[in-house]
Amino acid sequence: MLDRPRTVLSPDHEMFRTSVRRFVESELVPHALAWDEAGIVPREAWLKAGEAGLLCCDVAPDYGGPGGDFGHCAVVTEELARANLSGPGFVVHSDMVATYLAKFGSEAQKRRWLPGMVDGSLIGAIAMTEPDAGSDLKGMRTRAVADGDHYVIRGQKTYISNGQNADIVITACKTDANAGAHGVSLIVIETKTPGFRRGRNLAKIGMKAQDTSELFFDEVRVPMENRLGAEGQGFGMLMTNLARERLVQAVRGTVLAEEAIRWTIDYTRDRKAFGRTIADFQNTRFVLAELATKTAAARALTDRLIGLQMDGTLDPVEAGMAKLFCTDLQCEVLDRCLQLFGGAGYMVETPIARAWADARVTRIAGGAAEVMKEIIGRRLFQDAAR
Ligand SMILES: Cc1cc2nc3c(=O)[nH]c(=O)nc-3n(C[C@H](O)[C@H](O)[C@H](O)COP(=O)(O)OP(=O)(O)OC[C@H]3O[C@@H](n4cnc5c(N)ncnc54)[C@H](O)[C@@H]3O)c2cc1C
Repeated sequence: MLDRPRTVLSPDHEMFRTSVRRFVESELVPHALAWDEAGIVPREAWLKAGEAGLLCCDVAPDYGGPGGDFGHCAVVTEELARANLSGPGFVVHSDMVATYLAKFGSEAQKRRWLPGMVDGSLIGAIAMTEPDAGSDLKGMRTRAVADGDHYVIRGQKTYISNGQNADIVITACKTDANAGAHGVSLIVIETKTPGFRRGRNLAKIGMKAQDTSELFFDEVRVPMENRLGAEGQGFGMLMTNLARERLVQAVRGTVLAEEAIRWTIDYTRDRKAFGRTIADFQNTRFVLAELATKTAAARALTDRLIGLQMDGTLDPVEAGMAKLFCTDLQCEVLDRCLQLFGGAGYMVETPIARAWADARVTRIAGGAAEVMKEIIGRRLFQDAAR
């Protein structure tokens, strides 16, 4: 039932999936445990992925891209999830950073940065979160002060994915400290610029191969031409693009829920206790039946929203709903399936153990579950007041 053909993706997307899967299995999966231990994926893997066409799939040929659509990007997300990889951070690079540049960048900015992002020679990160401003981004303190035709940036960010590897960091800065959300601008910092410093590669409980860093800006002088869009428009850009990020998290969560159910069916068919297989216990079948039913609902929701994103009509509130539902479900499925593995499910070499640890962040990063509820709840009351 979980294998019913999907209609949102075309035969072209499915052909692309075949080549992505081949690349993932041969070039990424064999290194997964070593990269988890190292806490980072080496640049060579990024370059190979670029060569194989896995990066920035929807960037136009004018900027070196393959000219695909969101469906191609979704295929990459799905295949990385299917292989249970905790890194590399291709999704942040392609679905977030490249999307900001493609959507809000000037012609010169697109020509300067996108070709390198497509071929993997230029790795991207996006820095919003600060030690004292996460969910409440308006409270950010990183300042960009105008000085001639440059900004001087002072401040600090934390929990930044790809922070160790990044060559460019789209950095959310206050260009007007008194204008609240209207005082935020997005400025691209090239990491070779004097005054830019990376802190530690932070040790995490999951998603270990995707490096995560503190970043420090000590009087970093950046030309004003590195600002995306007009001054003060950064917050609006973040809100627009976060919808795509949230959908991508929902897509990944759905695939991992599907995979965990498969792994659990395989395991419980073989493992025996009390003279029968674990699958022979009615509890096992009931648990898996409940989880498969909810996962089918998640698949229907995410596929619908993939279609809307391809049409350019994804609503941020719907994306928030998908993120809330699918990441909660991802955590529920992984936890309840892990239980059916018994002690084996607690061992790091078991895929379900790694997937369980990786899942936890999805209810926090990209907007906590509670923030999704706020966004959805606010819309419900706005609509009711109309
Ligand atoms: C592995 C990882 C990778 C990340 N990658 C990036 C990245 O690449 N770039 C980036 O900018 N950031 C990144 N983040 C940061 C992430 O987006 C933030 O952690 C997240 O937005 C929550 O912010 P916070 O950690 O400051 O939590 P806080 O804002 O301190 O919130 C703590 C908790 O309070 C509750 N809460 C918060 N607001 C509300 C509310 N309105 N109503 C009810 N309850 C609420 C929630 O339970 C929330 O989890 C990453 C984080 C992690 C863990």
